[in-house]
Amino acid sequence: MKCPYCSSLESKVIDSRLAKEETSIRRRRECLDCKSRFTTYERVEEVELLVVTKGGVREPFDRSKIIAGMIKACEKRPISMEDIESFVSGYERELQERGEREVDSSEIGERVISKLYEIDEVAYVRFASVYRSFKDVNQFMNELKELLREKGGKGPGDSKDAVHPLTLIQEKKEK
Ligand SMILES: [Zn+2]
Repeated sequence: MKCPYCSSLESKVIDSRLAKEETSIRRRRECLDCKSRFTTYERVEEVELLVVTKGGVREPFDRSKIIAGMIKACEKRPISMEDIESFVSGYERELQERGEREVDSSEIGERVISKLYEIDEVAYVRFASVYRSFKDVNQFMNELKELLREKGGKGPGDSKDAVHPLTLIQEKKEK
């Protein structure tokens, strides 16, 4: 770290402590050449993550939007707020660690869909039917058939209150 007084590159740390807000480390240094003291801060580089929408618009990553969409899909389903939040937090961390500044909204959507597919079929169908355009309705139907075959006779879909996926699509169309 260059000394601000004499530009020497030699300095020693004489004190090191966590700053009040705990997001940075404050270091007192002493220049080995001119003996001047100065302070440096070390903090995590915060990368602002941008979401690229289908129309090519860039907007800040907003975890509350993802959570809201999932809550809607999980309404009256046995999925806790905690499950949703920990999934979104984990995903956000993963995106940060990747170090890229942009993520396609479609990637986020697909990720949520596959998570819901794992945990609850009704929530999955609700989310996927809203998220994926009806242009791929045939593809979507095939997926549903596969899902129903896979899960047939076991899991939460076995209970009496299970809603048939096609009913849900019908509901959406009428709105
Ligand atoms: Zn100096």
